[in-house]
Amino acid sequence: MRLISYLGDDDENRLGVIEGDEIVDVTRNVSAEGGRASLSPMRMLLSLPGSLLENVGALDGERIPLASARVAAVVPDPPKVIAAPVNYRDHQAEMKEDFHIDALGVFLKATSSVLASGGTVLLPYTDRRFDQEGELAVVIGRSGSHVAVEDALDHVAGYTMLLDMTMRGGEDRSTRKSFDTFTPVGPYLVTPDEAGDPNDMRLRTWVNDDLRQDADVRDLIWDVPRLISYASSVMTLHPGDIITTGTPAGIGQIADGDRVVVEISNLGRLEVDVSNRGAVACPTKGATRGPKPPEAVTPVRTR
Ligand code: MN
Repeated sequence: MRLISYLGDDDENRLGVIEGDEIVDVTRNVSAEGGRASLSPMRMLLSLPGSLLENVGALDGERIPLASARVAAVVPDPPKVIAAPVNYRDHQAEMKEDFHIDALGVFLKATSSVLASGGTVLLPYTDRRFDQEGELAVVIGRSGSHVAVEDALDHVAGYTMLLDMTMRGGEDRSTRKSFDTFTPVGPYLVTPDEAGDPNDMRLRTWVNDDLRQDADVRDLIWDVPRLISYASSVMTLHPGDIITTGTPAGIGQIADGDRVVVEISNLGRLEVDVSNRGAVACPTKGATRGPKPPEAVTPVRTR
């Protein structure tokens, strides 16, 4: 099943199931079950006990064309966005990083940085480098603390894609990756039965006509179960939490006017525009510090 968050005519978040080229509105199925009205319907669904499929309920709501929907971030209000730094060896190599995830642990991105597919990433500064990082992300459907590796997938509601937009330099990761709009996520939550095994997924990222990232998710240093297990040993996981698994080689600079697209097998297509409108001079001085990304982009392929 593919679930989508989108905006209704009243600009409120709604929850839909994708059927063909239509969205079936199931918002009332989950809101009738209770839950705080301040939560998005997606998060209400994820917070309900029991099976996701049963909780979605009957597909007898209003249908609207998918093409005309105003898509929202797949979880508009995640409790946390947990991210893996340096979780592919080829990315470690291109960044000339001494360490990978088993020395670095995980970090947090501000939840206010989430952006819908189709949105615009706003580069905040005129004088800093910004890169794209295409990633597989997991949406948590069940709370857990100190989850065992072998139980970790029981906590997964589904998979989606995430762009971990990044300012290069020496500032803390939580600063460099948390600007508003720096976490495009979606377009759908795809349940594990339909998404398939992450080890069989292929991840590709384009910037304009260049294919920059083309990777097998099985090359993750810490795979999805290990990452969930570890993250849950640091912080209790809650329904709606997003865990993004890290980026493979092929990061590169993005600029005003670019279009960035991520595709992962069975998960659809996440696409955003990039703009520097409103950008100002950077007030912090980390530009010359931190890991050194490749100077030039070497695309895997150009159209
Ligand atoms: Mn990343």
